[in-house]
Amino acid sequence: MSASNCDILIQGGGPVGLACAAWTLQKFPDAKVILIDRNPVNDADLVAADSRGIALSHGSKLLLDTIHAWPTDSADIYRVHVSQAGRFGRALMIREELNQDALGHIIRYRDIHVTLRQALRSIQSKTPHFAWQHISKEAEQPNIEAKCIVHAEGGLFKTQDWVESGRDYGQSALVGLVEVESSVPHQAWERFTAEGPLAVLPSHYGPNILNLVWCGSPQSSQHRLQLSDADFLSSLQSEFGSRIGRFLKIQDRRLYELGLNYRKEITKDNEVWIGNAAQTLHPVAGQGLNLGLRDAYLLAEKLVGVFSGAIENQTPGDIQSALESYAQTRKVDRTTTIGLTDFMARVFTSNLAPVVLARGLALSALQWLPPVKTALARQMMFGRR
Ligand SMILES: Cc1cc2nc3c(=O)[nH]c(=O)nc-3n(C[C@H](O)[C@H](O)[C@H](O)COP(=O)(O)OP(=O)(O)OC[C@H]3O[C@@H](n4cnc5c(N)ncnc54)[C@H](O)[C@@H]3O)c2cc1C
Repeated sequence: MSASNCDILIQGGGPVGLACAAWTLQKFPDAKVILIDRNPVNDADLVAADSRGIALSHGSKLLLDTIHAWPTDSADIYRVHVSQAGRFGRALMIREELNQDALGHIIRYRDIHVTLRQALRSIQSKTPHFAWQHISKEAEQPNIEAKCIVHAEGGLFKTQDWVESGRDYGQSALVGLVEVESSVPHQAWERFTAEGPLAVLPSHYGPNILNLVWCGSPQSSQHRLQLSDADFLSSLQSEFGSRIGRFLKIQDRRLYELGLNYRKEITKDNEVWIGNAAQTLHPVAGQGLNLGLRDAYLLAEKLVGVFSGAIENQTPGDIQSALESYAQTRKVDRTTTIGLTDFMARVFTSNLAPVVLARGLALSALQWLPPVKTALARQMMFGRR
């Protein structure tokens, strides 16, 4: 394969692009794939990178296990406690109700990223035609001819240079690691405050060191970022309450702007968009990467079908119809996940009295109507197929 032509060009070496390359090459090692990766070559250079805790579903774990890409540094969630600050309504989801070993897992972004790079490297040794090209963030896009182009350039809300459809919730997330006095091991807390959801999630550092994701207005979040540690902890304590004792320490505070961007069409001719390049979601339901991994897995299946199968010289028409079939397959999962996340982001950030009341009733209903709770949890864990 010449360096400037291939069957499949994957643009983006984030988790979704790496996973798509790995699943494609694992099933079809002869695939002529080029991956354009703008991250540093050495994993060690990613260590100081993105440290936010990401909730991965059990469905994502099953998918990542197939390529041996499950990070060792992960924390299991057995229970999720949902409540509203200063208002009625609460729900508790427990793993036994769903007959699962865990309701989800918390892993730092960089650990998912590095583990996927290692998994792809081990698959790479069996692939004669795979080229993994590292280029700098500033370098121009290389000129490569490809039969199919997979866009996995990802990105965060407001850093993306495309905006097709979506919503600006006027929110930011402040993330960090907090140390608490006493904890309930393997329990995740999601608390809806006047400004947005505040999640306190397990971490692999031990039961008393927890991942914090605190959503609020951009102004308040910026203010919280700049507070002294002591003032930050006391402000967090008054929002969260005393269920896990005192908040003792905060480290690694970072800010992310939140919103929804999504493409109406995820394919065009020989191009396809997956992961955050197709849709960027609010983290309230912890679905962005889970949905992106399902995109990558199902796209890899279609690509393997068209490039490894009986067709010798695939025409543009063959590739286009494989991509259209992929888009069709993703429709229900994508629409449901985007819709549910958008709904939750709006409902759980509103302070209108009727919405607050409805939210309390909904949480109580979740608590007292196990089938509703189970259906919602299943959607979060496995998506819609
Ligand atoms: C605060 C916060 C909390 C979150 N929590 C959760 C959660 O609990 N659960 C969950 O499932 N999701 C969560 N998400 C969403 C999740 O982080 C994203 O959905 C996920 O990172 C998307 O992966 P990706 O590979 O598509 O994109 P990215 O992670 O953005 O990676 C894209 C990669 O492509 C590279 N790139 C960009 N442009 C180019 C180019 N032109 N050529 C080549 N490479 C390029 C970038 O450098 C980057 O490495 C959260 C997001 C935020 C902001």
